Amino acid sequence: MSRVLVFNVPAHGHVNPTLPVVAELVARGEQVVYYLTEEFEPQIRRIGADFRRIEGTQVGFGPPPGADAGGLSDPATVMRTMAAFFPRMMAQGLRLVPQLVDRVRAEDADLVVYTPLCPWGRALSEALGLPAVKFSPTYATNEHSPLVRRLSSVLEEPSPEAEEAMGDFRDASRDLRDRYGLGPLRITDPLSYAEALNVVALPRRFQPDADAFDERYVFVGPCVSPRGDTPDFPSERLAGRPTLYISLGTVFAADPGFFSACFEAFADSGWEVVLSIGTRTDPATMGRVPGNFLVRPHVPQLEVLEHADVFVTHGGMNSVMEAAYYGVPMVVAPQQPEQAMTAARVAELGLGVALEPGEVTAGALRHAVATVGGDPGYKGHAADLQEAARDAGGYRRAADAIQQ
Ligand code: UDP
Repeated sequence: MSRVLVFNVPAHGHVNPTLPVVAELVARGEQVVYYLTEEFEPQIRRIGADFRRIEGTQVGFGPPPGADAGGLSDPATVMRTMAAFFPRMMAQGLRLVPQLVDRVRAEDADLVVYTPLCPWGRALSEALGLPAVKFSPTYATNEHSPLVRRLSSVLEEPSPEAEEAMGDFRDASRDLRDRYGLGPLRITDPLSYAEALNVVALPRRFQPDADAFDERYVFVGPCVSPRGDTPDFPSERLAGRPTLYISLGTVFAADPGFFSACFEAFADSGWEVVLSIGTRTDPATMGRVPGNFLVRPHVPQLEVLEHADVFVTHGGMNSVMEAAYYGVPMVVAPQQPEQAMTAARVAELGLGVALEPGEVTAGALRHAVATVGGDPGYKGHAADLQEAARDAGGYRRAADAIQQ
């Protein structure tokens, strides 16, 4: 039996794919200790891991400022947003290390698993001399990836906001070097640094530049198993009916205009519509809900996808991988840069269509859903990816690789 520590950021999209892997490790007799913020405690305990609380304010993780759908079509805006986010994330993340190091040392662990936007995971493993696994809920990247090269070059001449955060980052990394002998850290490390094992929750086929990754990268595909976190949802209402599922994920508060466009597009249509509105929208502000809609702040997405014929999604990687796992074609309305890249990938692989930000009107939604739902080609490509996704091995293969 080994003792495994998991470090992650408080975002469902980063936590969800780790849960089946942790559950599998626990089922195989490993001891797993998961460090995360309070709101995830019930989920972590439910899968049999030990939970250690860190304060949300310490983690300071959230969507990059200004990373809204409006700026998506302008690559320079996208890069400026990322260039402001990275130093801030790194500086705040590294400051967590001195606060956690004694607690973590006392765990007497054998191994660390961390996700990429969690620089304290890597720094703690290095400070304590523990082997580490990087678990990526989204695309693998390395120092050759175009995104990393562009980000490095933008950061050579940072904006005033990024410059201030760069100063914080340099201070924080100097502090870690002096205290724990850590090697030099680069601002792009979350995207470029490779551990001896890097588990990627995508099937190799979905990764655009898959050949750029050597055998240290194991593409296990979607890590999906029932989550049991929404027991009171009437899934039986969907059985045997044409089902449209709509969600823009858990991080960004959707524009209220998006929901009214959905009502206008699909009210009294032949679709049974499930609409997940997230926890930041007050359902009372939404006006009359059409009778063929089920509207909830959070739905059991895996169960809904099992029934869905078309998925209107923001293109968050988990949502797209879960759709792949269930073979559901998509309409992608991206809200931030990585999602725009994924929207393009979905279109390129024939899995669905991508909508431009700003073009998400009732008419465009109706047309896109009719196109994707009406053309069996999309369903066929989704079925091919489903096969690749399931063959990749999922959480069991991830657990095998981590144990090895
Ligand atoms: N999710 C869910 N119910 C909802 C909305 C989302 O279970 O009503 C889950 C979804 O299954 C996925 C995660 O939340 O695992 C969202 O992750 P994704 O990467 O798609 O987007 P993010 O929320 O990080 O933008």
